[in-house]
Amino acid sequence: MPYPDLKMLIAGEWTDGSSGKSEPVICPADGSTIGTLPHASPADLDAALQSSLDGFNVWRKMTPHSRQAVLEKAACHLEDRFEDISANLTREMGKPIGESRIELRVAIDLLRWYAEEGKRVYGRIIPSRFPNMQHEARKEPVGPVVAFVAWNFPATNTMRKVAGALAAGCSITIKPSEETPATAIAIGRALTDAGLPAGVLNIVFGVPPEVSEHLLASPIPRKLSFTGSVPVGIHLQQLAARNMIRCTMELGGHSPVMVFEDCDIEAAAKLCAAGKFRNAGQVCISPTRFFVQDSIHDRFLALFKEQVEAVKVGDGLDEAVNMGPLVAERRIDIMDGFVSDAVSNGAELLVGGSRIQSEGSFFAPTLLQEVPDTARIMTEEPFGPIAPTARFSSLEEVIDRANSLPFGLAAYAFTGSARTAGVLKQEIEAGMLAVNSLHVHSVETPFGGLKFSGYGHEGGIEGLEVFLATRYSSEIYG
Ligand code: NAD
Repeated sequence: MPYPDLKMLIAGEWTDGSSGKSEPVICPADGSTIGTLPHASPADLDAALQSSLDGFNVWRKMTPHSRQAVLEKAACHLEDRFEDISANLTREMGKPIGESRIELRVAIDLLRWYAEEGKRVYGRIIPSRFPNMQHEARKEPVGPVVAFVAWNFPATNTMRKVAGALAAGCSITIKPSEETPATAIAIGRALTDAGLPAGVLNIVFGVPPEVSEHLLASPIPRKLSFTGSVPVGIHLQQLAARNMIRCTMELGGHSPVMVFEDCDIEAAAKLCAAGKFRNAGQVCISPTRFFVQDSIHDRFLALFKEQVEAVKVGDGLDEAVNMGPLVAERRIDIMDGFVSDAVSNGAELLVGGSRIQSEGSFFAPTLLQEVPDTARIMTEEPFGPIAPTARFSSLEEVIDRANSLPFGLAAYAFTGSARTAGVLKQEIEAGMLAVNSLHVHSVETPFGGLKFSGYGHEGGIEGLEVFLATRYSSEIYG
């Protein structure tokens, strides 16, 4: 299946836009150019905005049942095109084909779950303190949405926003990552082929700061949803403030993993390696700071090392590979910087530590031990295949160290103690905590962060709520 022709979706038409500008899409496994992506002009963005308002006024008036029928049909189209979309996701992003299939399966589940949940947006009748009066609180779609998403999960990052917004009755204009555009376009094609009215979904590309500046300067969007880094999230929130646009911010993390002496050490080592190198560590909820209790430190490290050494790296289209390249060449220097800084601060390099293969942006699965908390990799989000480990002695100490960063996205613990698990649930400053697994999200559970990791949720009923506005009315009767 060839990589598709890349187009934008504006006002119901698949188009190259009018800017005459474009950029190449690069395959990270071999550095080749696989596509050419058109950029939107300011006039194209204005057309997208106007059509999102027009589309909103059509879509919000349809019943949730008729909206669900369109979304269900789109889910069927995605299933019919499953293998092609998965392969192109791997081509543009690099992750192993098995991970692309899982990601697309989750994206389809998200679409179906939200389509159904859109039928269950209830209001409430509030008993009045006055006779013959009724108070009513209704939930209405908030309005046209603007969204920007990162490249690391081209299907689910896009679908979390698109499915929630559409199921709530909103229209949405999304700018997916320019590095991984084909997956979002495939989602758009499934929706338009399913009969989504024109303007309800717009897909645009361009120079990111120029696109966001233009879209958020308009009075049309009523909601901004962003998945990406903390600095860009803060910048977009400032732009949104000028038009009082409400925001959902799904930002970076630096997730602690606390491995206690009373856990199943072998199971923990296996899970940690599988989780750490998933998508080459380019996951916002990736386990990234491994704190191992003194008494089991050496045993855990030996088991973890075996697992890291067994990771098979290569082109993600090879079914036998379990880690692909980094998304782009620029990430290699960043990984090099983390490793050399950690080693110069006293860490010991146990596995990997440098790029591998001359072609493509491959970095070796890397394990570091005795990494001081002051090393950059313990304070800055690594977003790559490096596992830094350190020791701890007591529960109180590891809680303090886990909570010491401005991030608060995910956290993990391995322990056989119900008391330890109970204390962590209370004390760990993270939007999501998993004990004895690395499982922190399903389509029906709330996904979101605390502190600088952002606010608002995607997933679960919370992920629908962010696209709804509450309206109150009263009425005297009788
Ligand atoms: P980034 O913030 O630089 O870019 C993310 C996306 O936003 C990209 O598509 C980019 O093109 C776009 N973007 C960048 N600047 C923009 C601007 N001024 N206006 C509009 N769009 C803009 O982040 P990155 O380093 O490319 O991606 C990784 C980051 O995303 C990590 O910090 C990761 O943790 C975070 N992330 C968070 C979640 C979550 O759900 N919390 C999920 C995935 C990724």
